[in-house]
Amino acid sequence: MMTEESCWICLSGAEVHQPLQRPCSCPRYVHRTCLGRWQLQCAGRRDEFQCRFCGATLPRLDETLTPPHLREVHVIPYIAVIYKGECFKVPIKPGTEGMAEFRARVKCLFGMSHDAEFHVSFECASPSGEILNLDGMECFNAAATCATISAAKRAVGEDAGFTWDERMTV
Ligand SMILES: [Zn+2]
Ligand SMILES: [Zn+2]
Repeated sequence: MMTEESCWICLSGAEVHQPLQRPCSCPRYVHRTCLGRWQLQCAGRRDEFQCRFCGATLPRLDETLTPPHLREVHVIPYIAVIYKGECFKVPIKPGTEGMAEFRARVKCLFGMSHDAEFHVSFECASPSGEILNLDGMECFNAAATCATISAAKRAVGEDAGFTWDERMTV
């Protein structure tokens, strides 16, 4: 008799649209989207990028979090940056390089010097629709990933008339 494997996060088994996978060397299984939600909750911390038990690098958040039908939707996402009560839509891309570009852009936009430090917090919609507060620039990758998914949902008309802009307050 075959043993039924189950997801270490939601405890359900494999389903047609949700196969189980092993993202690292640990002997345990997870659904891709369950892992993505976990990584999003750990945004900016080591657990977003690395398995805390075996140390393996986890799949990128955009791979685990983006619903498959939205992956081929290519639109430029943006983050609404709120600074002194004004709102500026800044185009972004996830990843380390994207974060460096974003920081430079924000500093340029507000006339800050290139070595200026500033504190930010992000408000993001997770793919399941809940709004998360992510604190600190180290959460940029997670915020950018949510913004990319939101932009794709808007492009295919899946936002159900509710337009959410990922936003960042400086
Ligand atoms: Zn699961
Ligand atoms: Zn592991």
